[in-house]
Amino acid sequence: MMSEQTVKKNERYTVKIIDLSYEGMGVAKIDGYPLFIENALPGEEVEVLVLKAGNKFGYAKVEKWLTTSPDRQPVEDKTLIRTGIAPLAHLSYEKQLVFKQHQVENVMEKIAKLPEVPVLPVVGMASPVAYRNKAQIPVRKIDGHLATGFYKKNSHDLVSITDFYIQDPEIDKAIVVVRDILERFQVRAYNEAKNEGQIRHIVIRRGHYSHEMMVVLVTRKEKFFKAKEIAKVIHEELPEVVSVIQNINKEKTNVIFGKKEVVLFGKDYIEDQLLGKTFRISAKSFYQVNTQQAEYLYQTAIDFAGLNKEDVVIDAYSGIGTIGLSLADRVAEVYGMEIISEAIEDAQFNALTNKIENAHYEVGKAEKAMKKWQDKGVKPSVIMVDPPRKGLDGSFIESAIEMNPSRIVYISCNPATFARDAKLFAEAGYETTKVQPVDLFPQTHHVELVALLTKKK
Ligand code: SAH
Repeated sequence: MMSEQTVKKNERYTVKIIDLSYEGMGVAKIDGYPLFIENALPGEEVEVLVLKAGNKFGYAKVEKWLTTSPDRQPVEDKTLIRTGIAPLAHLSYEKQLVFKQHQVENVMEKIAKLPEVPVLPVVGMASPVAYRNKAQIPVRKIDGHLATGFYKKNSHDLVSITDFYIQDPEIDKAIVVVRDILERFQVRAYNEAKNEGQIRHIVIRRGHYSHEMMVVLVTRKEKFFKAKEIAKVIHEELPEVVSVIQNINKEKTNVIFGKKEVVLFGKDYIEDQLLGKTFRISAKSFYQVNTQQAEYLYQTAIDFAGLNKEDVVIDAYSGIGTIGLSLADRVAEVYGMEIISEAIEDAQFNALTNKIENAHYEVGKAEKAMKKWQDKGVKPSVIMVDPPRKGLDGSFIESAIEMNPSRIVYISCNPATFARDAKLFAEAGYETTKVQPVDLFPQTHHVELVALLTKKK
């Protein structure tokens, strides 16, 4: 029997944290009613204030810690938790990895119904900070000046931040330099409520090995006074910048990029290296934000596939070709597909740059390309997939099963949808033989994994 919901907004309670939610929030229960609490760890006894009380669950914040967990580590800047930049920064790194391990084990048991599948220990980083090679930073006006930082969770209140902790520090510095140049040129900050003003976001990417930097200025209007001069000054003050791009986004939306781009300085891409190959990356192309761990992830995927010269490999959700081109030398053919046309142009360019002639890429929805290749009689021995958070489309899975590869290597940024898909593959005779989580996003709740599925004989 469910008890009546008696927890009310603005009331105070003393509770014990019993668990961490998959988003890394502390969970407490009052007569069975769950409260989610930021910056609270299992075992801790805390006094909380209820911020929001819905029908089935609520949110609260800690007002006082009566006991603290031995797994707690000090966090200098609490805004890192409040903004969701580093929501697990208060948990020791060792325990963050345990938390992620449990997440994966849990979905393998509860969603995939495959509790017997071995989940290998999460591979963490020796130094789990300053890893992000990309920043997407909103710009707003605070006290009459341009401010860069991050929103408080579930709000559009910008908190000014200069040390983003998990980002490449050179990117942190560049954000401030670009912001100050824009201020000098009197560029107006975007005002979301009124859909007025000009500069919406500063997006920066920096190659982990190449140190090449791209700066994207996302503006509301196409007309951008002194744009080229601004871009030139950015390059002068930040010599690593080889590309400055204006992206125009006129819409009232949370989506950062608009369709149209104008090159203001240099090239329209940067280059970086992965597993010894060179990759061109355009502004709109996906590129893993943690280069060091991405290399480990891709190498594990390649090892899991157990490749040989006769293999025909499908690299589904290929992006700029990172996975397919890293393994092309070892196999007969690679077929890749991806929905973003700029990314496919990058993939084709990257094949040329790395002198790879056996990789074929096309633009389109993965499920459509699969059907097409299936009808054309492409017979992959290995299918590699790396879908976005929602996982694979049902029709993709059907085509994959009918193509009858001996191995499927599944890279996932969402264990829950991976588990759902692993169950469907299991029903079609594909056994998940091992799962290797890799920590691509230290200090956050995000979990990445690579799994090997093999066709039962
Ligand atoms: N394998 C690449 C990219 C992985 S991210 C890498 O590791 O760099 C997932 C990619 O899937 C993104 O590039 C995204 O643009 C693409 N994508 C999203 N939905 C898709 C769909 N329905 N069909 C094909 N590609 C899709």
